[in-house]
Amino acid sequence: MIEVTPGIYRMPLPLPVSNLSHINTYLVKGNNGYLLVDTGWNTEEAFASLKKQLGEIGINGREISRIVVTHTHPDHYGMAGKLKELYGATLYFHHLEKDVIESRYIAMDELLQEISQWLKGNGVPPDRLAELQQASLPMLKFVTPTMPDTTLYGGETITCGDFNFNILPTPGHAPGHICLYEPAKKILLSGDHILPTITPHVGMHPQSGSNPLGDYLDSISNLKRLDVDLVLPGHEQPFTGFQERIEGITLHHRLRNAEIIAALGYDSRTAFQLTTGITWLHDVNGVGWYKLGNWDKRMALLETLAHLEAMRAKGELEKFAREDILYYRLPQKAKTSE
Ligand SMILES: [Zn+2]
Ligand SMILES: [Zn+2]
Repeated sequence: MIEVTPGIYRMPLPLPVSNLSHINTYLVKGNNGYLLVDTGWNTEEAFASLKKQLGEIGINGREISRIVVTHTHPDHYGMAGKLKELYGATLYFHHLEKDVIESRYIAMDELLQEISQWLKGNGVPPDRLAELQQASLPMLKFVTPTMPDTTLYGGETITCGDFNFNILPTPGHAPGHICLYEPAKKILLSGDHILPTITPHVGMHPQSGSNPLGDYLDSISNLKRLDVDLVLPGHEQPFTGFQERIEGITLHHRLRNAEIIAALGYDSRTAFQLTTGITWLHDVNGVGWYKLGNWDKRMALLETLAHLEAMRAKGELEKFAREDILYYRLPQKAKTSE
């Protein structure tokens, strides 16, 4: 636990199954109660760690009157249901995240069916379908699904003590991702939208919207106008150099696009063929797709698709179906006169 700025405490919580070591939750001191931003997975270790850190601050948890979740991935949202019950706190999150709770965490059969069809359509061979379709199921036990008491739409201000946080919708990493911006203090709580060294995962899937990477690049570009001295991210360490980090992430995606175009050449390829053909250097130390765990395999495929669809939206690629399988290629301008 560290007081990162007067009145805001960073409380890192351990993650059980992840490439990342911890998630940062932030506790903001108010006049009548505290505000907690993000919650960690619902595990005994994470809860014990939270209790211990609250104790170091001198509170027992019941003082937490509000919880804001930046997005409903298990590491940020998993414990929200438990804490809301336990402390009688009011839970806030964005309406686009609320829309997927039922299908993602409660009645999953339909979504699993849809994911399977969708993986197949993107070139995943039958013998690999099950492992990719079910890749996220082990995460479910770390989530207590719950609905928000107050649904956010973006543009709200949440006041807590000396802080007035503007709620900024920042779609891309998740459709209903939000950041909390404190303009007077020039602080941004960035969730998973902007991290100091990791490039946040942006993947295309049945619940991501049609162009998540386009949404993501638009939403990081929109943040450039903000005056930010300190970024409090959902993972890794708080950092300065906000504008440079936005430039760095934008460049990363440009390079990734170029890498995909180079792998495509003048051929037609499925998203699966492209994903398995490219070594994803920055993510996994160049081990190649087949050596990844199922979760990472699926993330790599969803990221490739997000890049392909972002390039397609700009007219840099086109997509066609052959026997119900989707292929991408460079635009065939000469053939339009046929
Ligand atoms: Zn996330
Ligand atoms: Zn996260």
